[in-house]
Amino acid sequence: MNKYDIVGIGAGPANLSLSALLGVRAPELTARFVERQSSFNWHPGMLLPEAKLQVSYLKDLVTLVDPTNPYSYLNYLHSKGCLYQFITANFEAVSRSEFADYLQWVFNSLNNVDKGSEVTDLDYNGEHLKVTTSTGDILLTKNLVLGTGLRPYIPKCCRSIISDTVFHNSEFMFKKRNFKNKTLAIIGGGQSAAEIVQSLISDEENMPAKILWFSKRLNFLPIDDPPFTNELFVPAYSRHFFSLSSAKKERLLAQHKLASDGISESTAVLIYRRLYELKYVKKLPQICYLLPSHELHDVNQLDDRYSISVSDLEAELDKQYNVDGIILCTGYHYHEPHFLKKISNQLNRDKHGLIVDEDYRLHWEGDKNCAIYIQNGARHTHGVADPNLSLLAYRSARIINQISGKEVYQNVEGDCLIQWGLVQ
Ligand SMILES: Cc1cc2nc3c(=O)[nH]c(=O)nc-3n(C[C@H](O)[C@H](O)[C@H](O)COP(=O)(O)OP(=O)(O)OC[C@H]3O[C@@H](n4cnc5c(N)ncnc54)[C@H](O)[C@@H]3O)c2cc1C
Repeated sequence: MNKYDIVGIGAGPANLSLSALLGVRAPELTARFVERQSSFNWHPGMLLPEAKLQVSYLKDLVTLVDPTNPYSYLNYLHSKGCLYQFITANFEAVSRSEFADYLQWVFNSLNNVDKGSEVTDLDYNGEHLKVTTSTGDILLTKNLVLGTGLRPYIPKCCRSIISDTVFHNSEFMFKKRNFKNKTLAIIGGGQSAAEIVQSLISDEENMPAKILWFSKRLNFLPIDDPPFTNELFVPAYSRHFFSLSSAKKERLLAQHKLASDGISESTAVLIYRRLYELKYVKKLPQICYLLPSHELHDVNQLDDRYSISVSDLEAELDKQYNVDGIILCTGYHYHEPHFLKKISNQLNRDKHGLIVDEDYRLHWEGDKNCAIYIQNGARHTHGVADPNLSLLAYRSARIINQISGKEVYQNVEGDCLIQWGLVQ
C-alpha cells in the first residue's frame, strides 16, 4: 500500500494538466495517476483525417496559467524541431491528430502515471480514501481527483441493438466502414455528425447509396464562435455562472448549447462545396439528404436492416425509413463511475447531479479532511466550458491551490471584457 498526497483517476487531458502543473510548481506534493489505457489515445474513434481542434492550441494543458511550463504546446513543437515551420504553415486550426500527438508526448513524459491500470474500487478506511486498481495496487490518499471523462450517449430506442451497423460516432474509426451502396441514417446535428458526413461523401468510390442526416435543430447550425461568445470560456464567466441559482444555470446551459455543440464553419463549408460538386459538376444522383427538425424516436430491427421512426417536428408528422445502418452522433454525458459505489450514498446531490463547490470539490458526508475533486463533471455548476479544453489549466491550478492551502498558481483568473456582474 502506498500513500500519496494526491491520487488522480484517469489521465486524459484533464488529469494530464493537473500532473503537468503539479510537477513544476508543487513537486513537494506526492501524486499518482491511474490510467486504464496503456498508450495514450485521444478520442481515437473520431480521429478522422480532416478533424481540427476547435479551440486555439494555446488552450493546451498548461499555458493559460503558466506559459513557462515545459509541457506547453509550443515546447512540444520546439522539441520536435518544427517551430519555424509551424509558424510558416499558419494553420487556421491545428489538426486533432497533432494535438493528440502533443497529449501523447506529455503522457509519455510524465513519470507519475500508472498506465494500463483501471481503478475498480474506492473506499474510505477511516483515515484515507483507498483506491484499488485492476493491477492489484492499493493507493491511499487524502485528495482524490476524478478525471474519468464523459461517456457516449446512446438514445434509449437504440440501446438493445448496438452492433457493427448501429453505433455511436465514438466508434466510427474502429468499424469496417464498408458503406458502399448502403443506406445510412446519421442522427445528430453537431460537429461529430458533420465530420462523419463529410468523410462519407468525400470518397466517391465508396460512397453510400443514401445518407439521411437528421438533426433535431432547426437547421444545420454553426458553432457560436464570435469573440463575445468566447467570453463564456474564461474563468470570470465560470465564476459568475457558479454564483447563479440552479434554475438559472439550467436555462443558460440550454441557451449556450451552440457555443460548444454547433458545426465548425470550415466543416460546413467543406460539406456544402462537396454537395455542390456532386450535384452540379459531376451531375450524380442525390445521395445525401439533410433533414433538420427531425427527431428519432423508435427503431425496429428487420433481419439485417432497420426501420427507423422519426418525427418531423415542423410538419408534425411521423415518418418511417428503412436503413442498413445508424450512426448515433448523440453526444456525451457524465456518469458517476462504478468504482464510486461504496461511497455513493455519502456524496451529496441535487436534481442536477453531484454538488460541487467552486474549487471543484464534491460535497460528501465523509471525513472533512479527505477531499474528492471532479474534473469534467461540473457543467451543471460551472457552465458550458467545463467539458472543453479552455478552462483545463485554470481548473487544475485551482485544485492545486486548494490542496496546497496557498496560491501556488497566482493570477489565474485573467481578465474579461464583459461585465457579467455589477459594474464596480
Ligand atoms: C471527438 C472529440 C473532439 C473534441 N475536440 C475538442 C476540441 O477541439 N476542443 C475542445 O476544447 N474540446 C474538445 N473536446 C472535448 C474535451 O476537450 C475532450 O473530451 C477531453 O478529452 C476531455 O478530457 P478528460 O480528461 O476530461 O476526459 P477523457 O479524455 O475522456 O479522459 C478520461 C480518461 O480516464 C480514463 N479512465 C476512465 N475510467 C477509468 C478508470 N476506472 N480507471 C482508470 N482510468 C480511467 C480513460 O481511459 C481516459 O483516458 C472533444 C471531445 C471529443 C469527444
